[in-house]
Amino acid sequence: MKLLVIEDDVRMAGLLRRGLEQEGWAVDVAGDAVDARHAVGITPYDAVVCDVGLPGEESGLDWCRWLRQEGIWTPVLMLTARAGVGDRIAGLDVGADDYLGKPFAFGELAARLRALLRRGDTARPPVLTHGQLVLDPARHVVHWEGRLVELTPREFALLDYFMRRPGDVLRRTEILDHVWDYGYDGTSNVVDVYVAYLRSRLSAVGAPDLIKTVRGVGYQLMSRT
Ligand code: CA
Repeated sequence: MKLLVIEDDVRMAGLLRRGLEQEGWAVDVAGDAVDARHAVGITPYDAVVCDVGLPGEESGLDWCRWLRQEGIWTPVLMLTARAGVGDRIAGLDVGADDYLGKPFAFGELAARLRALLRRGDTARPPVLTHGQLVLDPARHVVHWEGRLVELTPREFALLDYFMRRPGDVLRRTEILDHVWDYGYDGTSNVVDVYVAYLRSRLSAVGAPDLIKTVRGVGYQLMSRT
């Protein structure tokens, strides 16, 4: 099992490394969010211990949000200086799996990590938002300005994919690969049909047309709503 520890405090990082290695885990340490992004790009970790307070422009919460937006579901345990409810909720909202307030007993950290490692990296995406559009992957519901948008499972999967790539021009073939099964052997016209369904579902609740047709290429979820 290989763990990534993201902590700028050298003394704390050293303590964590030694303690976790004594538990039998291999440990890499990153000192800030930039280092940590680099590390997860190279190594598939089994779990991450991430301090909320990091130097530079990105906090541990920003880093965790980025990780989930990248579609990486490695279990993350956040360390926070304040065990306040606000930090805990913020941590869980950005897709962390657990949190521990400093100071903590090392035995508790190890126990929580063992529990996360048992669970593995099943996708537990946090709620996606795009302007007034909110998609909750766990509860499988979509709201526009608080109004429920009724979608079939395929329409939901299509919108989910768009919302993970806001502003990107998505090719029909790319959408097919991600939203339809790999075994699907129909034509990419099915994408046009489903985009039309999705547009009508959204307009039914008063949403503007958020999905732009990029001629000859595909579709783009407008980055401003
Ligand atoms: Ca810190």
